[in-house]
Amino acid sequence: MRNIQGVFVDCDGVLYDADLLTYEQIVSAGRLAGVQLGLDWEDFDKVHQDLKKKGFHGFYNIVLELCQAQSIPFNSLAKKMTELLDYSTLQLNPELFTLLQQVSQKKKLFIFTNNTKPHLEKVFYRLFGCSVVQSGLSVITAESTFENGHFYPKRMHGVFAKWCQKLNLIPHQTLMLDDSDNVIDAAKKSGLQYYKIKSTQETTQILKELNETK
Ligand SMILES: [Mg+2]
Repeated sequence: MRNIQGVFVDCDGVLYDADLLTYEQIVSAGRLAGVQLGLDWEDFDKVHQDLKKKGFHGFYNIVLELCQAQSIPFNSLAKKMTELLDYSTLQLNPELFTLLQQVSQKKKLFIFTNNTKPHLEKVFYRLFGCSVVQSGLSVITAESTFENGHFYPKRMHGVFAKWCQKLNLIPHQTLMLDDSDNVIDAAKKSGLQYYKIKSTQETTQILKELNETK
């Protein structure tokens, strides 16, 4: 880690350990939330394949496409999902919160997640005891990436370059902390510095190091 100017910190699997709330649990809550709102999932595989051909990745892009076709607000689904998920496994982590705030005084730090804003709000309340706004931290969620009817998750081509430009960050002076291989590959290709996180303990360790460096 050298000359770090900007830091992107993933949420799921980085701010809390991935086994406390798994990707599978998140996806099945999404499916159930859709059912409860009357969303027809029949075209899921077809939409998935069509989007893949066009280079669009991610569960939420499929959900968004289905929601748009069936006039169901995506935001309602995203919110309902969070009501169906059990966040009680996430415990307050004041040390992590303090470190994130300290590093963000020195560097441009963003919590950068492919997940939704309602989900991030729930995670913040559990981990930090406050809302995203109250935390004072800057965040990028799926909704922030919405453009022309699609989300642009981190793994997609050109997404990191675009955000670096938008935030006035030099890619090789920007560090991505993420637990997903796809995202790490994308960060690598875009010339970012990166660290593949295996536990929250590692997140804490790296933030400590960043806090100590200039
Ligand atoms: Mg993750």
